[in-house]
Amino acid sequence: MSGHPWPSEAPAPAPGFEGLASQAAQAHASTPPDNAAAGGQAGAGAADAGGRRPPSVLIVGGSMGGCCAAVALGHVGCRVEVFEKAPGDLKSQGAGLVVQPDLAAFLQRYGAVRSIEEVCVRSAGRQYVDSNGRVIGGNDELQLFSAWDVLHRAVKARVPPQLYHSSSSVAAVAAAPGGVSITLQGGQQHSGDLLVGCDGPGSLVRRTFLPDATSEYQGYVAWRGLVPEQDLPQHVLEFIQNKFTVHQMPRSHILAYIIPGADGSTQPGGRRVNWVWYVNTPADSLPALFEDVHGHHHLYSVPRGLLRDEVAAERKVAARKELPPALADLVGHTRDVFVQAIHDQLAPRLALSDSCCLLGDAGCILRPHTAAGTTKAAVDATALAASLQRCAFQLGPALREYECSQLALARHLVDVGRSIGTRSQFPERAGQD
Ligand SMILES: Cc1cc2nc3c(=O)[nH]c(=O)nc-3n(C[C@H](O)[C@H](O)[C@H](O)COP(=O)(O)OP(=O)(O)OC[C@H]3O[C@@H](n4cnc5c(N)ncnc54)[C@H](O)[C@@H]3O)c2cc1C
Repeated sequence: MSGHPWPSEAPAPAPGFEGLASQAAQAHASTPPDNAAAGGQAGAGAADAGGRRPPSVLIVGGSMGGCCAAVALGHVGCRVEVFEKAPGDLKSQGAGLVVQPDLAAFLQRYGAVRSIEEVCVRSAGRQYVDSNGRVIGGNDELQLFSAWDVLHRAVKARVPPQLYHSSSSVAAVAAAPGGVSITLQGGQQHSGDLLVGCDGPGSLVRRTFLPDATSEYQGYVAWRGLVPEQDLPQHVLEFIQNKFTVHQMPRSHILAYIIPGADGSTQPGGRRVNWVWYVNTPADSLPALFEDVHGHHHLYSVPRGLLRDEVAAERKVAARKELPPALADLVGHTRDVFVQAIHDQLAPRLALSDSCCLLGDAGCILRPHTAAGTTKAAVDATALAASLQRCAFQLGPALREYECSQLALARHLVDVGRSIGTRSQFPERAGQD
């Protein structure tokens, strides 16, 4: 760390994930060997040793959490159906991400990738740079980086297409003893045994069962961007040198690293540079920043392609004033700047009834510093499948076991993110938590 005062985007493994790969291994070990893709081919009618059938599962949300849940639950014999409100391929809301060992284990175990190297760029260590761009510290720690869109594609490809329903916005959910049901916008109804809310930070499932569990804005935003290597001047690429590059400023920092291209390419020339710049921002300026090109107001993030031009232009001017020249050029060459408000949220429960639970961001929003959001979604999915199997598909006990382990993990990661964020953005408050 070379005396650097805080870790940023925690090096693998993220705190709290240690050992969870073995849980995934246990789930896998007892999986029928031929049940290669999600979809519960064994689900309709297959019985476990205790005589109970794996449940039919309705999954709300088809992002990383929803797809991971479909794959893991399909593997233990559940019949799953995924309902995603977005049409077609999901527009990535995330960008680059650190591939933690448990995420790599998930992808390999469930056949989403043959080798993790296929979807990753390996960094050649870290470098810390000063305001002139001089290297002032670093290390040789190798990390694997990938891209949200590349990984989502890989996991979604393991969900049989007939079980993944795009353009299916869930308008209402209900869970009663003996069964769950969802109503789509348009009125169509579906029923099943188990409902899994993978519908992200604004979760309808969470709001239905826990109307008081709200999230809290933490006083800063993450400006983000992805730039294809071929759009960048050579000096910017030479500056980043395939290193996790960090520049720390008072109450702010920016980081950048190389990730695969939009088509998954990991070869030099075909990759992208990902950057994230944390900036303290008063809550009362968010409504103006988070109003998109269509006049729609967002709470958590303005996705790529929807940020108003004048807001992106202001950020590029600020970059020129505040960042080392090469990083200012990186921001300046970004076509689609996007922005994410940093919120903390931890649902008090994940098991909402004996037949309904939350998974991924619906249950807990993690700060990006933890580099753990996507990994946690995969780990939650694995844990849910493992609990169902261990409890012989008795939903009540399985969901309680799932809640116990995953709520503890979520709590831990929320605390880690809060601690890193406070030291980075509000150092005067450090130690007061
Ligand atoms: C701007 C941004 C950047 C991020 N960057 C990173 C990163 O770099 N690294 C990382 O590890 N994590 C990152 N994350 C977090 C990461 O995206 C999530 O942790 C991960 O995708 C798991 O989330 P999820 O599937 O639980 O929820 P989400 O990804 O939020 O998905 C929820 C899904 O539910 C759908 N949905 C919502 N409501 C309904 C409804 N009523 N009916 C049907 N569908 C519905 C949504 O359309 C969406 O597809 C980022 C998140 C955001 C917002």
